[in-house]
Amino acid sequence: MLKSKKAWLFGLVALLIVGFYLLGFKQYVDLSFLKEKSDEFNAYNTANPWLTSLWFFVIYVVSTAISIPGASILTLVGGAVFGLFWGVVLVSFASTIGASFAFLLSRYVFKETVQKKFSDKLTDINAGFEKEGALYLFTLRLIVVIPFWLVNFLMGLTPMKLRTYFWVSQLGMFPATILFVNAGTQLAKVEQMSDILSPAVAVSFALLGVFPLFVRSVPSIVRRYKVLKAYKKPKTFDYNLVVIGGGSAGLVSSYIAAAVKAKVLLIEKSKMGGDCLNTGCIPSKSLIKSSRFLADLTRSERYGIKSVSAEFEFSDVMERVSSVIKQVEPHDSVERYSELGVVCIQGEARVVSPWEVVVDDKKVTSQNIIIATGAKPRVPNIEGLDQVCYYTSDTIWSLRERPKNLLVVGAGSIGCELGQSFSRLGCKVTMVDIAERVLLQEDEGAAALLMSQLESEGVELKLRYSIDSFSVENNQQIATLKTNQGNSLKVIFDAVLFSIGREANIEGFGLEQLGVQLTQSGNIDVDKYMRTSVPTIYACGDVAGPYQFTHTAAHYAWYSTVNSLFGDIWRFKADDRVIPRVTFTEPEIASVGYNEQSAQAAGLLTETTVFKLSELDRAIVDGKTEGFIKVLTVVGKDKILGVIIVGEHAGEMLPEFVLAMKHGLGLNKILGTIHAYPTWAEANKYIAGIWKKNHKPEKLLKLLERYHLAKRT
Ligand SMILES: Cc1cc2nc3c(=O)[nH]c(=O)nc-3n(C[C@H](O)[C@H](O)[C@H](O)COP(=O)(O)OP(=O)(O)OC[C@H]3O[C@@H](n4cnc5c(N)ncnc54)[C@H](O)[C@@H]3O)c2cc1C
Repeated sequence: MLKSKKAWLFGLVALLIVGFYLLGFKQYVDLSFLKEKSDEFNAYNTANPWLTSLWFFVIYVVSTAISIPGASILTLVGGAVFGLFWGVVLVSFASTIGASFAFLLSRYVFKETVQKKFSDKLTDINAGFEKEGALYLFTLRLIVVIPFWLVNFLMGLTPMKLRTYFWVSQLGMFPATILFVNAGTQLAKVEQMSDILSPAVAVSFALLGVFPLFVRSVPSIVRRYKVLKAYKKPKTFDYNLVVIGGGSAGLVSSYIAAAVKAKVLLIEKSKMGGDCLNTGCIPSKSLIKSSRFLADLTRSERYGIKSVSAEFEFSDVMERVSSVIKQVEPHDSVERYSELGVVCIQGEARVVSPWEVVVDDKKVTSQNIIIATGAKPRVPNIEGLDQVCYYTSDTIWSLRERPKNLLVVGAGSIGCELGQSFSRLGCKVTMVDIAERVLLQEDEGAAALLMSQLESEGVELKLRYSIDSFSVENNQQIATLKTNQGNSLKVIFDAVLFSIGREANIEGFGLEQLGVQLTQSGNIDVDKYMRTSVPTIYACGDVAGPYQFTHTAAHYAWYSTVNSLFGDIWRFKADDRVIPRVTFTEPEIASVGYNEQSAQAAGLLTETTVFKLSELDRAIVDGKTEGFIKVLTVVGKDKILGVIIVGEHAGEMLPEFVLAMKHGLGLNKILGTIHAYPTWAEANKYIAGIWKKNHKPEKLLKLLERYHLAKRT
């Protein structure tokens, strides 16, 4: 009903505009016609002053409201007939009221559709308009070459308030109104429209319009000047870009810079590849592979094999982890990057000015610097820590002897992945976390499945506990755990692994001296363009956060590099709308966007659709039916807000949803895509099918039922 009303209104306005041209009204909004008739207009006005003003006002409002051309001619009429003062009063209010009607018309007919269709792309624009829309509108109004009707139409699509629109338009159009009304008072002298608005006057107005935008950017220009003025800018530079840190973020940054032919220096103080290759993703996933293999053997009966036994040495598994790192190493090596055109230096970098970095007592200059120094595992300050054998994700890979009892502190992704793996490799694992469940950021149902799996495998979960102290008694290492309620218990262990988070590497290499600002959580504070508070320095990866993944490090590295190299010409805002995450436990947990808890916390009304993997043929064939897919959508709409997949291959099934969310595709599109049978990815189609079934067109189906009945009888 609403849609048809909009269509009618749109049709009516279109008809009026077309009619205006077809019926030849265009001749009346012409300078020569105005000149010819100006005496008649004046005579009518002298005889009926109020009526003339009223007619003029109404005609002006209506013609601008429905975007009929001729506003400038009408404005001249205002001056010619009513004189400067009264002409300006009439035109100023009539044009603003007419513009406001056009704005409302555009908003009513198009805004909802445009905002819905381009919702993802418009988020930033909407936010910008809510904050600074008045400024933009003021500028547009003063750039008189931009058609009046176009501004009305476009502004109607934004979230700007009508009140703001009215007053800013009134103010922004005022200079041009005076100019045209004044010209109208001296109509005889005007031969053509360009006599009124010469290029010089148009440019002056535009400059007046751009002025507020310039004023707005003054603070950042001053800040930039203030930060940089304390340092001497080199006359020439050794490099276009210096990248500090050869982990995921630094490697991608230098790769991109070299690809676009910039001269780039990459400085790494330890091992190329950083955390992901040496102590993070690669070793942990290698360990998971071995431990998963063992776990699969224990399930041989599922596959009709009575029993399978495995013999293994813990140290061999850990050696394999090292050998996998070695196999991947060439991908991130100095040799490879040198071949790509990156100058690589092994050494500890120190930033000494916004353009200078010292490495091995040698100073190099660069137009821009990217900080990609990563993060390190957090180690808590607990009484007795110095007496016990403790590890972090940085050091655990040196283990060759299996700890009989392993205490894992922290049940986030890293704690769960490593805790489950070491348990499967024969350690008695106790996992401690102050939270009430594992994977606090993830979906409750997903965490519940993982917890029951961990417990079924013999991992002891001590939730709502924290470590009070460590001690050694009778040669045994003991952790005293306590709850908030004051309950305590003791756990004997041989080694403790801390997985309680990672803190940014920000100290000791010059950032403090330069005054690079940090966030509350201790990361380098960067803006949407990945710039730090020092204009020539950018940051990405774990050191900037907020996400600590290899794929986000690489993603933000692109923005840091492109903005640092080409920011003078064009800057790109980092897109952080759709970030996937995977915890490689069994069951595997992959997610993107909201889950029910985070949606509720954000005050979003969502609809949840669930598909159980036990319904999927491929899961049954593979004997891996545990798990589910959950999709959160906007109530009543085909817009995906979040997806959680729990089960085998969850991480491989997620990208279809990531793609859909990124490009604003809904479940209908997934349902209409052919998925090969029998694959795990088919589950994506099935959940889309369930959603569709829940939104079936009841009225249409009733009609079809009647249609079939009629055909039968
Ligand atoms: C156990 C574990 C498992 C993980 N699993 C995954 C996973 O499965 N998927 C995923 O996406 N992410 C995973 N991560 C996270 C991932 O490893 C990190 O997010 C990613 O490596 C961050 O890359 P980065 O470049 O920001 O930092 P890093 O890789 O830490 O690189 C920073 C580099 O900077 C160097 N450096 C520091 N200071 C200086 C200096 N002053 N001069 C010169 N060099 C310096 C360091 O030596 C280091 O090499 C895991 C992490 C851990 C710990």
